[in-house]
Amino acid sequence: MNKIHLDGYQKFKDVYFKDNKKLFDELAEGQSPHTMIITCSDSRVSPTKILSATPGELFVAQNIGNIVPPYEQTKGATQSAIEYAVNALKIPHLVILGHSSCGACAHLYHEKDENEKSVELSHVDEWLTLAYPAKHNAMLECLNNPEKNRAEITEKNNILLSIERLMTYPYIVKALEEKRIELHGWWYDIGTGNLEAYDYATKTFKKIEV
Ligand SMILES: [Zn+2]
Repeated sequence: MNKIHLDGYQKFKDVYFKDNKKLFDELAEGQSPHTMIITCSDSRVSPTKILSATPGELFVAQNIGNIVPPYEQTKGATQSAIEYAVNALKIPHLVILGHSSCGACAHLYHEKDENEKSVELSHVDEWLTLAYPAKHNAMLECLNNPEKNRAEITEKNNILLSIERLMTYPYIVKALEEKRIELHGWWYDIGTGNLEAYDYATKTFKKIEV
């Protein structure tokens, strides 16, 4: 087994922490992040890196497939994080950040055959049932158009599904009505480093130009 990566920790203490001591002194007193990000646990997706953010800026909740469970499902880490971000921290921006080659979205299409070695994924399978509507919509969209990129469509549908689910949270609807929060859907392309944002007016994802 590889050793746990402590060289990076040493570098953090010797360089980043030392150079930013004032920031860490302030952060020791509390946090006031401007954006909540709900993204996938995938190791290739680092919102802090993608946005060049400093500690204290982003309130991040990660799970397999950047899924927002329905409001009625009261027990859950993601629901608690959303509630704390919106009601306690009063965060003005909430981003659902999905990504290319998402293993969770691909797993939605995985069918075990009889000979396949049994890998314990029962919790993953159960969790991902929440994303089935994203898969079903993608299948319909690709039905008569096999040229379409089903994986990407599923990933983008899954982002929109999470945004729709946020609309089952009464305090989110209230915050939207009072213009205290904005909901964003972003898709990150790992191979190009590009971010695409969902445009509510045209109902399409468009590359963010900076
Ligand atoms: Zn993923």
